[in-house]
Amino acid sequence: MMLFDIKDGVNIGDLKELRKGAFDLFHYFVDYCFDHGLRCMITSIMDDAPGRVHDGHEEGRCFDASIKGWSESDIEEFVHITNANFIHIAAVSEKDLIPRAVVCHGEGEKRHLHIQCKRNLT
Ligand SMILES: [Zn+2]
Repeated sequence: MMLFDIKDGVNIGDLKELRKGAFDLFHYFVDYCFDHGLRCMITSIMDDAPGRVHDGHEEGRCFDASIKGWSESDIEEFVHITNANFIHIAAVSEKDLIPRAVVCHGEGEKRHLHIQCKRNLT
């Protein structure tokens, strides 16, 4: 069984450009999916992708993942647990100043997990 999959067109080499915080989140995400039997499909690292909304991608601070095969409660639980556990490295929203390591955003087909560490992590 593959630990994770990367969508066609996404450059797997960009993994080595991730900041330490984003890489820690990547490792955690792969582990989490494995432990919970969830599909782990990376849909954007630094490449532009449909539905992508954050500049942090170019900075190597985030990656996107598909929610295909995940139930609403899978998503809710992952978002809740991850945001509680990674508050120390989570990206801080400029809108409400709340740190969130993960958000599930986008509409319809483009809805996805956006996983992001804060600025100034090496
Ligand atoms: Zn994103």
